[in-house]
Amino acid sequence: MQENFPSINKEPIETLQINIGYKCNQACKHCHVNSSPFRKEKMSNEIISLIPKIVDKYKIKTLDITGGAPELHPEFKNLITSLRKKEIDIIDRCNLTIFFEEGYEDLPQFLANNNVIITASLPCYEKNNVERQRGYGVFEKSITAIKMLNDLGYGKKKNGLQLNLVYNPVNPILPPPQEILENNYKKILFEKYNIVFNNLYTITNMPINRYEEFLIREGELDSYYKLLKENFNKNNLKSLMCKKTISVNWLGEIYDCDFNQQINLRGNKGPKTLFDLMDESFTFNYGIAVKEHCFACTAGCGSSCGGALT
Ligand code: SF4
Ligand code: SF4
Repeated sequence: MQENFPSINKEPIETLQINIGYKCNQACKHCHVNSSPFRKEKMSNEIISLIPKIVDKYKIKTLDITGGAPELHPEFKNLITSLRKKEIDIIDRCNLTIFFEEGYEDLPQFLANNNVIITASLPCYEKNNVERQRGYGVFEKSITAIKMLNDLGYGKKKNGLQLNLVYNPVNPILPPPQEILENNYKKILFEKYNIVFNNLYTITNMPINRYEEFLIREGELDSYYKLLKENFNKNNLKSLMCKKTISVNWLGEIYDCDFNQQINLRGNKGPKTLFDLMDESFTFNYGIAVKEHCFACTAGCGSSCGGALT
């Protein structure tokens, strides 16, 4: 069994992931950000205004906007329209239920108008499993939201408006093979609800924050780590998302990935803030800050914000 996580290095970055605030209209059990309606942290307008400049300077290919519910940030729409003319993919990590909050009724149309890629969590095609993890009423709202997005053209064509769903296990196990599960999701969701989507991303639950507390309460933290380590797959190392991504928190501080951001784990090398990135020209070839939780990214088929790795 692999005991220590190997050293890995940064490579030229392609993805800028920004967490623009921790407030969310939900408070899911597995949330690694500990988001809830009561969180107040949000990115300042000064930092948001740096994003298009960083995109240009470092030739970023993908802007991945996350939270909390990122749409709750008052500058969410302005940020997206400010990037309209740039040739980048913009991902909104959307919880789907946000469409039903007062004042957000026009959000699906706005996202479609701006060709924003929607990546949304739907941890199961069964109502009970979804609601165990994400709260009462979330499943029906999610299905209705996907219908609304389908009506706008999302999820229908390979090269059209992209709607991707995210699966993460309800129990402390590794996700099943992504391709097989995607086929099951597509079949069942179409047959039962007449809805479609593009890709399913399987993500291994990260044993940090709220999910770590849950595992401790259930007495399953040690066995979960054993499972992750026993299934260490070195073939996943080359594709780890932290290699070509930087993750920025609401204060503009830079981390190797969203998970490291949530446990405030940073190395000594590399840029500390978005302001550093603007002021200097960085080469991304330094060591990535790794710890035991990283085994969640290398177990089995691997895991990242874009799903399985191998
Ligand atoms: S919807 Fe996402 S950000 Fe909000 S509480 Fe659930 S997992 Fe966390
Ligand atoms: S948690 Fe995963 S993505 Fe983040 S640094 Fe560790 S291996 Fe890389």
